Amino acid sequence: ENLIGKIAAGEVVERPAAAIKELVENSLDAGATTVTVEIREGGLSYIRVSDNGSGIDESDIRMAFERHATSKISREQDLDSIATLGFRGEALASIAAVSKVTMTTRTAGRETGLKVTNEGGKITDIKETACPQGTTITVSDLFYNVPVRKGFMKKSGQEATAVHDLMTQMLLSRPDVSFRYISNGKTEYHSPGDGQTATAMQTVYGSRAMKEMKAVDDHGNGLVIKGYVGIGENARGNRSQEFFFINGRVMHSKILNDAVETACRERVMIGKFPVCALYITIAYEAVDVNVHPNKLQVRFRDETGVYEAVMSAVLNAIRVRDA
Ligand code: ADP
Ligand code: MG
Repeated sequence: ENLIGKIAAGEVVERPAAAIKELVENSLDAGATTVTVEIREGGLSYIRVSDNGSGIDESDIRMAFERHATSKISREQDLDSIATLGFRGEALASIAAVSKVTMTTRTAGRETGLKVTNEGGKITDIKETACPQGTTITVSDLFYNVPVRKGFMKKSGQEATAVHDLMTQMLLSRPDVSFRYISNGKTEYHSPGDGQTATAMQTVYGSRAMKEMKAVDDHGNGLVIKGYVGIGENARGNRSQEFFFINGRVMHSKILNDAVETACRERVMIGKFPVCALYITIAYEAVDVNVHPNKLQVRFRDETGVYEAVMSAVLNAIRVRDA
């Protein structure tokens, strides 16, 4: 079981950013409105994810650390959720199998919380503790018992970059949640969580870039398209700063990159890659989601329709504000 556990774990948590993604998604699933992520050395030595969500009931603690155990009830788009989020009920067990995990948690109805200690996938201690409502999970020494995996890890700086990119995506995808992200003691991000896309973007890109952003608010060919696109010197970057959230989830698509870049090229003489965050709502039947371990690649049934709708939305945004 231990060996199998470790192998399976390697597929779910292949690097610190992957573990953090799972932990933050759990916080969001638990209804958290504030989430703090703290790492040291790219997350290899230390990760802490803290939330003000529902907390975990005493009777569910053991189950939470078991493989294939999930408390989450099936929803309408469950098939879609499985396809995109994957690994139902495996994340916490997988992370715990390859690290030293401490969890403190308290539900709303309780006066005291619980502190759970876990090493190499086994709960070693549970005791009462004072803590605020919500859950804090600390992951130390990731892969300490998987020398092969540890050997594959990039330098901590590169792992920190991957975590930074993940936090950017999380923050932009949930403007209604206040995120705090701290790396090696330095606060990298602190978003207000006021529900406004603009303030989330300001947290990520800064106020100089925000002055050069145009609001996109349009619809067409079955898509609703909202968000911001940069048209100036301070609001351009590389393609990795073009973000697309399809039905709330970050997705990658060459069609979308092309649509935005072409629209911007037609109107303004700036570098190739405008910073953007576009929030697209589209019928589930119109998208085809392909799972990659890290990237989520999306395909559209009607590629031309999507391309044209996004391009004209961006063109309109630039035009309206110019006038
Ligand atoms: P899944 O999210 O697919 O259910 P996980 O392994 O990620 O599986 O988590 C296992 C269970 O632990 C969840 O179903 C949930 O009940 C509980 N859990 C994990 N993290 C949190 C959290 N931050 N807040 C509340 N419950 C949590
Ligand atoms: Mg989960």
